[in-house]
Amino acid sequence: MSVLDELIAFSLPAVPKALVRVFARPYIAGETLDDQIRVIRELNRDGFMAATGLLGEFVTRREESEEAVGEYEKALDAIDEAKLDSNIHVKPTHLGLTLDEDFCYDNVRSLAEHARGYGNFVRLDMEDSPTIDATLDLYFRLREHFDNVGCVIQARMRRSLGDVRRLASAKANVRLCKGVYIEPRDRAYTDPRIIRENYVWLLEELLRAGCYVGIATHDELLVWHASRLIDELGLKPHQYEFQMLHGVERELRRVVRDAGHRLRVAVPYGPSWYPYSVRRLRKNPAIAGYVVKAMFK
Ligand SMILES: Cc1cc2nc3c(=O)[nH]c(=O)nc-3n(C[C@H](O)[C@H](O)[C@H](O)COP(=O)(O)OP(=O)(O)OC[C@H]3O[C@@H](n4cnc5c(N)ncnc54)[C@H](O)[C@@H]3O)c2cc1C
Repeated sequence: MSVLDELIAFSLPAVPKALVRVFARPYIAGETLDDQIRVIRELNRDGFMAATGLLGEFVTRREESEEAVGEYEKALDAIDEAKLDSNIHVKPTHLGLTLDEDFCYDNVRSLAEHARGYGNFVRLDMEDSPTIDATLDLYFRLREHFDNVGCVIQARMRRSLGDVRRLASAKANVRLCKGVYIEPRDRAYTDPRIIRENYVWLLEELLRAGCYVGIATHDELLVWHASRLIDELGLKPHQYEFQMLHGVERELRRVVRDAGHRLRVAVPYGPSWYPYSVRRLRKNPAIAGYVVKAMFK
């Protein structure tokens, strides 16, 4: 992480909201479900699948989680009504994980039920390291009743090989990413080269075990390794998918699609875009650097 990244991230909270909106705009569909549906429609038209995420995390009141469940249900209804190709992904702490694990389970369970009625799918995002055990417990609890749920593994975490082996034996649907949260060295690899190598190791474990993997990365070397493994294992396009974030590496996204792979674009929306953007930028200043560099490209 460069000094420039840190400086940009540090000064962002002092920047007027209107300017932060300019930074955030390419990465967020907008504030409303209508904005979200418009962006999904464009993505589908261009040959990409989508993943809908409502912005929000680490809520402190149960009502905030209940509102999020209601909004996600409306999103699932709208996606089905418009015959769009988008699943949903939820942050467990948005649905109350740090308030009460049973409350969070009930919230995700009702979304999984709602989604199942439409043949749709719910993925549990992975957040910072203190929430990993509870999130995996939530996932395995849900799997006792649902097949239309998935989870996320972060290649940055030292524990992930063990988690992957446990998930592989359950034939889990796993999104594999590097991990966006800056974690202490005793829990996470901090050298980007090791994080990359670990990503490839975990990906190979999951694919060889027959898991459906959401290969979530904009790192072209990892896209190359994934393509190599897919070829070596003779996988068909319906057995995995690539995933990228809205507004990031659009050219690489098209390259992956044109090579015959399926690619899902994760699109966040919601009125909480401002606190979310600032918190995210402060938590991982490298993102601020990406944003500014992208503006000058
Ligand atoms: C679909 C999806 C879902 C994710 N879900 C989770 C999750 O549940 N939990 C979690 O911890 N992390 C999640 N992440 C974030 C992930 O962990 C990484 O932080 C992020 O993808 C950057 O890693 P990278 O593999 O793209 O490689 P990097 O080396 O970090 O990035 C490669 C290049 O992509 C561009 N880039 C990457 N990220 C951004 C950005 N945010 N803005 C602008 N440009 C960017 C830059 O040009 C960069 O040089 C998700 C990522 C994706 C794509």
